[in-house]
Amino acid sequence: MIEQLRKDFPLLHKLVDEQPLCYFDSAATTQKPQSVIDAVSHFYQLENANVHRGAHTLSADATTKYEAVRDKLAQYLNVHRSEIVWTKGATDSLNLIAHGLSDMLNQDAVIVLSPFEHHANIVPWQQAAARTGAKIVVLPASKEGVLDHNASIKLIHKLKPAILSICHASNALGNIHDVKSLIDASKAYSTITVVDGAQSFMHLKPDLTQLDCDFFVFSAHKALGPTGLGGLFGRFNLLNSLPVYQTGGEMIDTVSFSGTTFRQAPEKFEPGTPNISGVLGFGAALDYLNNIERDALIEHEYALYQYLVSNLKNIAGVKIWGDTAHNIGVVSFTYKNEHHFDIATLLNTYGVAVRSGHHCTQPLMAHLNIPGTIRVSLAFYNNQQDIDTFISALIETIEMLE
Ligand code: PLP
Repeated sequence: MIEQLRKDFPLLHKLVDEQPLCYFDSAATTQKPQSVIDAVSHFYQLENANVHRGAHTLSADATTKYEAVRDKLAQYLNVHRSEIVWTKGATDSLNLIAHGLSDMLNQDAVIVLSPFEHHANIVPWQQAAARTGAKIVVLPASKEGVLDHNASIKLIHKLKPAILSICHASNALGNIHDVKSLIDASKAYSTITVVDGAQSFMHLKPDLTQLDCDFFVFSAHKALGPTGLGGLFGRFNLLNSLPVYQTGGEMIDTVSFSGTTFRQAPEKFEPGTPNISGVLGFGAALDYLNNIERDALIEHEYALYQYLVSNLKNIAGVKIWGDTAHNIGVVSFTYKNEHHFDIATLLNTYGVAVRSGHHCTQPLMAHLNIPGTIRVSLAFYNNQQDIDTFISALIETIEMLE
């Protein structure tokens, strides 16, 4: 089955420096199936028009197709279409939310984050805190990089935070967080809960009605879709009550020089011409994700992950960071005191594409007391051959460095 699926991803068959590509950077961005690439180019070849504007056929058809993807996405996340806002990506979504929620913050308010957050889920809150005097508190985690769940729940009860914003899965370590129980604990205090789903959107297919969060953000390019597109879910009444973020055409009801009125959510947060081709490409990505045998692929991904972890554990000097018991398929490791960049650069000469560095989680690296890691991030289109190539390349790399 996997070999069949791999044929859908043209770039997986590319030679890099005359070596077959072993792509292990799906946490940064996933590869794209041909159907996504086709949907984008089909739009420009045969369907190109602006949406929501023209009375002409091309524009009406583009609008229908574009809005149908909002329905598809709402279905994927099990929420209502009016609660979905298109943005440029998870970063843009978090900025929109942090900006919008600033109005309810003051110097008595606490914003709770975890040590695992991507900079995109830290810096917008720091800006909001700087504007309002609110305080940021970070949940506790072990020195190995695992959230202390029980202590986190206790801290939430103690702090009664105004906002809890936490990643569903860590991009740096792959840890899956039990966000549902953190959200449930926050309910008693009317805490507004924000889930950074950039890494969980594809791997975990979260049911947001069941998760019961107030906001959820994601990026299309981490789920087989095009870059420059993402979105957010916001519980409708709360979302609609947020002040406008960016302004301009499309998001208005009426404009005059004596004042402007705005549309309701989601349109009030979608000024200007949207990323139409990106949305249509993402529609094809959602079709792809909806049509695969998810249970079998999760099993495959998990088996690959276990195989990778057990092989790495056999190499003396390798240290794996994070929670290997609850993981989306990301292995972050260090080797003795060797620099992560040297190892990643040498691995590249074998066609092995990994990420090295702090993975936009500098506070996490400071917590672990390391400058960075080598990150191997899996997706369902990886196979055992990829892992075998990686392990033998790593062993040779280590021999070169010793
Ligand atoms: N949050 C997490 C957990 C991520 O992994 C990323 C990207 O790596 C982001 C947010 C930011 O996503 P984007 O760069 O697509 O806006």
